[in-house]
Amino acid sequence: MHEMGIACSVLDAVRAESLRFTGRHICKVGVRIGELAGVDPEAMRFCFDALVRGTDLEPLALEVDYCPRRHECESCGCHFFSPLDGMPCPQCGGSTSRLSGGEELELAYLEVDDGACATGTQSPE
Ligand SMILES: [Zn+2]
Repeated sequence: MHEMGIACSVLDAVRAESLRFTGRHICKVGVRIGELAGVDPEAMRFCFDALVRGTDLEPLALEVDYCPRRHECESCGCHFFSPLDGMPCPQCGGSTSRLSGGEELELAYLEVDDGACATGTQSPE
């Protein structure tokens, strides 16, 4: 089950980030998982909870942002969700499109216990 490895790297990232928030507790972590990443969000959640339990990171919630497979039309440039290759564009009917999303596997955001959101940009205090 490779979800365990992924949950581990997410927690490593949370630990690294927590150094920036001395005295504050990270209470939520958002992870973007694409349909094509081959990760089962439920298995991921299960592994994550198992790893967090009993550690100083607790309580820590995991929010999974599931990203369906997405294509970009090469004729008109619009993005659309498509379960398969070669689906015609809903805007112009064009049949050439390229994969533009659905392979995400990344940390989306962290939330610290004062409710501030840390997405790389620090809000002024
Ligand atoms: Zn199009």
